[in-house]
Amino acid sequence: MTHVSRRTFVLSAAAAGTIFGLDKQVAFISSAEAKTSPPLTDKGFVKFKVGDIEVTQIYDGIWQKAHDPGFVKNASVDDVKGALKAAGATQDYVPITFTVTVIKSKGKTLMFDSSTGGQLAPTAGLMMAKNMYKAGVEPAKINHIAVTHFHADHVWGLISKETNSRVFPDADIAVPAVEYKFWTDPSVIQKLPEGARGAAQRIQATFPKWKNMRQIEDGAEVIPGVRAMAMYGHTPGHTGYLVSSGKSQLIVSSDITNIPALFVRNPGWHAVFDADAQMAEATRRKIFDRVVADKTMINGYHWGLPGVGKIKKDGNSYAFVPLAV
Ligand SMILES: [Zn+2]
Repeated sequence: MTHVSRRTFVLSAAAAGTIFGLDKQVAFISSAEAKTSPPLTDKGFVKFKVGDIEVTQIYDGIWQKAHDPGFVKNASVDDVKGALKAAGATQDYVPITFTVTVIKSKGKTLMFDSSTGGQLAPTAGLMMAKNMYKAGVEPAKINHIAVTHFHADHVWGLISKETNSRVFPDADIAVPAVEYKFWTDPSVIQKLPEGARGAAQRIQATFPKWKNMRQIEDGAEVIPGVRAMAMYGHTPGHTGYLVSSGKSQLIVSSDITNIPALFVRNPGWHAVFDADAQMAEATRRKIFDRVVADKTMINGYHWGLPGVGKIKKDGNSYAFVPLAV
């Protein structure tokens, strides 16, 4: 996501919790019962395990995006409202949430992406403001960060609001090399739409100076049990991560799809945020087919809380089945 207007963030995150409020205590709810818009617990975090690895998902907030005919290039506002209704979600706006995943494994604490850092909206920024502490995750104890892509809602949490200094100066920050090279190329500024240029300039003014940021290639091991998986399309270097422990696996898919109610149900819909819509769709289908076949757990950055579960094939479509935690 790039163009986030402050004025579009109108309701509180607490209100969002009420809108979605649902907390089922079953292992996996069946496909027929599944809401494609996952519930939000009002705790602000959820915890679950992948083998021996402890996983915490931390809620950062919501963007209550006003309906806009340009949002999905090949679907109308009425189509979008219909899909939200079918998922049991509000139709008043598009409920785009932000959720950060942190894992603890063998003495290391690794965070995927970094939240909005409270720099995009009054209804986001809850991770650093409180939910991290509620979840028992101390920012100073995060010693690894794995970044999926450089959109503001994923990386502004790395950069302090006032001074552009490092929020996590002691953490090893792994970033996809393809993504890094795209955004730090000085010539990219002129190629980007005007609204995205400021973000690229901020990246160019900060990341290249940071000694604790390193570029990784597809397939690289970030820490034992965590490998980079190229998932290009949403951005040129958009990268997910495979978390493995024993026979258990979790795919951190970040933004291969935006909210499940729309883009898991309609994998052919093209959100305006995808830099290369065709490639993004091919990546989405490839990853979904893999997790359906392997019954792997998968999460997404904009999937609410719990934003983790399984994907089931449903005719020509898919359904997201949230994990009950
Ligand atoms: Zn995003």
